Amino acid sequence: MTEQITPQAFLAGRLLLESEVPSEFLTNKDVITEPSIITENGRYHCRRCCNEHRELFATAPCAWCGNRHCIYCRNCLMLGRVTACRKLVRWKGEPYAFPSHSNVLQWKGTLSHGQRHASLQAVQYWKQKEDHIIWAVCGSGKTEIVFDAVAQSLANGERILLATPRVDVVKELYPRFKQAFPSITITALYGDSPSVFHPAQLVIATTHQTFRFKKAFDFVIVDEVDAFPFSCDQSLQLSVNEARRPLAPILYLSATPSRSLLEQNKRITKVSTRYHGHPLPLPSFVWIGNWRKTVMRRKLPSKLVTWLEKHHRKPVFLFVPSIPVLEQVSAALKQLGYIHDAVHAEDPHRHEKVTRFRDGVTKLLVTTTILERGVTVPRVQVAVLGAEHSVFSEAALVQISGRVGRSHRHPTGDIAFFHYGVSKAMKRCRQQLQQMNREGF
Ligand SMILES: [Zn+2]
Ligand SMILES: [Zn+2]
Repeated sequence: MTEQITPQAFLAGRLLLESEVPSEFLTNKDVITEPSIITENGRYHCRRCCNEHRELFATAPCAWCGNRHCIYCRNCLMLGRVTACRKLVRWKGEPYAFPSHSNVLQWKGTLSHGQRHASLQAVQYWKQKEDHIIWAVCGSGKTEIVFDAVAQSLANGERILLATPRVDVVKELYPRFKQAFPSITITALYGDSPSVFHPAQLVIATTHQTFRFKKAFDFVIVDEVDAFPFSCDQSLQLSVNEARRPLAPILYLSATPSRSLLEQNKRITKVSTRYHGHPLPLPSFVWIGNWRKTVMRRKLPSKLVTWLEKHHRKPVFLFVPSIPVLEQVSAALKQLGYIHDAVHAEDPHRHEKVTRFRDGVTKLLVTTTILERGVTVPRVQVAVLGAEHSVFSEAALVQISGRVGRSHRHPTGDIAFFHYGVSKAMKRCRQQLQQMNREGF
């Protein structure tokens, strides 16, 4: 493909390292190369990720310039090392023009009442070029809500970014958008995605990948805006901002938006009902005393065992607060003869284990909070052991509860928070779900 593509198309809205650009493009008069790390008022500044924190720069022996103490930026290291001796490349000529498309949306489904309202709002705010939050409960069908706004933006010949902190969301959304917009060039960008040369009109990317884009997009959607690491990494938030053209609106999507996001944005649309119209199942609180002592002896609280027995034919998620607890609980389950998998963030077999659970091969999956989002399994029942632990924030508990009752055929299910003292987050979680149910019905 490289031979047909022009430098203007290749570099459209992108800021790349010299080594990422075909060398024949570098001599084009409209291609400019600039230093990647500059010093301003005695401070280093990485021009790719805008990092200015001294502690996020380091020196290392450099293969490019031979300097034994070449400065590099640690903040955007995951996209390949930016060193002070290397140049960044961009296009300064006429911007690449994307085509306008009419009637591109091929999705033929129907929106629920709540989805339709939010969809109209999304179109309205996109037209007015205003930032907007859609606060949509877990299982409300967020993706379909944005289809209309995306279609109208494409009809205007705009370029769109759909960014999310989570790589599994990128992988899940890509085929759905391909299907809904079959005539549009769409690309999915994440850590180890295959390198792409064509300038896609719709870019679905992890938020880290936006470091490579500057003033590229006319419409930006950020899905799961409250998820790690985007929610607590200012350089990612800045990067998404830099990726948009001046005045391009941002649409934030979340089931659990943070207080600060809600305070910063005045335009908020709530979707309080699930697409299937059934209310959100509520968690029950079950006191189990000092559960740490019990699991340290490789045993399980008896109320938890009874609960597991009750649901032994259904898929069950058992959330635990930490990896040591995960191991203790897994050992206890083994002793009791429960066939199960245990999974945490650093687990090399994480994806296989989740797939086995999704496919119904394993019925019981013990997990840390890494699976609080994203994994959807029909008929799943959820237990949280040690729900009062500080890792289980209000948002985490709402997401965990949101796993249950998502499918049209099984809209209900059991959520049990096993605890040694009710936390504020547990109370707030239940209040939030009750409030959504009141608003929705
Ligand atoms: Zn950087
Ligand atoms: Zn160097």
